[in-house]
Amino acid sequence: MQAEKTLFEQQGFKCQKCGHYDPLAKKLELNKEHKTVLCSVCNAFAPSAVEDFENYLSEKIDSNILETFRKFTKPKKEDSLKKGMMASVTKGNHVSRPAYGYDMVSGELIPAENSDQVRQIFESFKKGLSLNAISRNFGISVNGIKKILKNFTYIGKVKFDNQILQGNHQPILSSELFNEVQQRFEKLKKSK
Ligand SMILES: [Zn+2]
Repeated sequence: MQAEKTLFEQQGFKCQKCGHYDPLAKKLELNKEHKTVLCSVCNAFAPSAVEDFENYLSEKIDSNILETFRKFTKPKKEDSLKKGMMASVTKGNHVSRPAYGYDMVSGELIPAENSDQVRQIFESFKKGLSLNAISRNFGISVNGIKKILKNFTYIGKVKFDNQILQGNHQPILSSELFNEVQQRFEKLKKSK
């Protein structure tokens, strides 16, 4: 699962064979066998032998030519529910309760009045305040604070099926601040 996340991050939302770009990753699939991001059509025809696969990848095709197939390629039955959910998640129709600092307005995440508190919580932790101190200052449980500090929603991403995908809601935080906070978490873990 860890590998899947980094694959999308490394290779972006672009099919490695035909170049089809899908920022919502709706029509892209992870070819687990060869650790590659492919569109649904290219993935459906991908050979499994390593050598064949490399040849297959290097033989480029224009993504426009495949557009017709992509439009009418129906997801496999067992995957269709998952894909439907993924599509609605990436559209912003979040299946769970909105994260602290967001409101849900007609199925979309909108920064709420308390979104500035989220920023302050992140800044406090970055500055070196303990989780206990932050918990006291904001009247949120330590676990609640931890959850907030690790929530990718604040940088505009959505988590679905253990993959971190680009959402289309407005971020509350810069990725720099978010990453600095994750780094401090790592350091804390190591020092224990
Ligand atoms: Zn493709």
